[in-house]
Amino acid sequence: MVNSTARVIRVTKYGDASALQPTNIPRPIPKPTQVLVKVAYAGVNYVDIYERSGNFPSPLPLIPGREGSGEIVEVGSEVQGFKVGDRVAFIGKDTYSDYAVVDTVHLAKLPDHVSLETGAAFILQGLTAVGLIRKAYAVQKGDWIVVHAAAGGVGLLLSQLGRLLGAHVIGTVSTEEKAALARANGAEHVVLINNGYEALEKKVRELTNGEGVHAVFDSVGQATFESSLNIVRRLGTLVLFGNASGEVPPLNLMRLSSKNVKVTWAAVYNYITTPEDFNELVEDTLEYLEKGQLKIAIHKVYPVEDVQQAHLDLEGRKTTGKLLLKIQ
Ligand code: NDP
Repeated sequence: MVNSTARVIRVTKYGDASALQPTNIPRPIPKPTQVLVKVAYAGVNYVDIYERSGNFPSPLPLIPGREGSGEIVEVGSEVQGFKVGDRVAFIGKDTYSDYAVVDTVHLAKLPDHVSLETGAAFILQGLTAVGLIRKAYAVQKGDWIVVHAAAGGVGLLLSQLGRLLGAHVIGTVSTEEKAALARANGAEHVVLINNGYEALEKKVRELTNGEGVHAVFDSVGQATFESSLNIVRRLGTLVLFGNASGEVPPLNLMRLSSKNVKVTWAAVYNYITTPEDFNELVEDTLEYLEKGQLKIAIHKVYPVEDVQQAHLDLEGRKTTGKLLLKIQ
């Protein structure tokens, strides 16, 4: 049965985790090109924190959530290839909700052996990690790469993929516990970050005979940016893809000339603009999962009622791997 209302988590004023409040609203109606999904799990991503706090200003009121999984309960008249009852995972908007309307370009049917929990856990971070490591900088065997926040949701996946591709992965983390996890997930070397990134710069110099790394995958942003520029080698690539510590300051491009460094800010959405590109990344990521080459570590499945705690844990650097909300 499809309800006429949806219970959602809504933000009416930017703020801390207490801005996340449950409420009931009329259920969203899919356009002819969309499906309606009864959401089982919504992934919690750092971008939800940027939106909640106003760092990525979105019009208010807003419902956070960029991904989820569940069952299709209604299909728009122009939709092809999907039907009511299909189990799906998707990248979308407003997914902290009983129901989500989803464009088919970012909708994937889940194979029978993939659970709804895994579906919501892999779809955004998995595609991000695979997309970044292939397209933002195509990691090669023997490369040295730095992965910041290596025990985080995306970081653990980048570390695994880096090792799979034959690269030497140097991860950064803030605790011993996270260091052990990063090592177990492919980081050959791990640097504990306490006060600043000098220890990382020293380690990189030692390991690479002073040359620096081929690529830095940097989701921390403001706090790591200068150091990332320092440790990247001549002709190397700095891949920025997140702002966990804040946005990076403006960059004078002339600074790149000393090493001909390439700097990119990579959003996964630009790798999945067509169904073909989206499906290719989904199929490849699922294949990695099936072969055991990629493992998703779920930190915790929070009941949706505990959404504030989930945000506090993620922004408080208390989590590793993937956070999910059990919606229903
Ligand atoms: P994580 O699980 O990686 O959590 C963030 C981690 O960043 C923390 O655990 C912490 O690890 C580290 N960190 C370092 N400095 C800070 C700081 N000042 N404040 C908070 N955290 C800090 O989150 P996600 O896996 O959800 O996301 C990782 C990053 O990837 C985010 O920046 C996100 O925006 C980005 N992202 C980008 C996408 C894109 O398309 N560009 C898509 C998906 C995610 P530690 O304590 O070990 O330092």
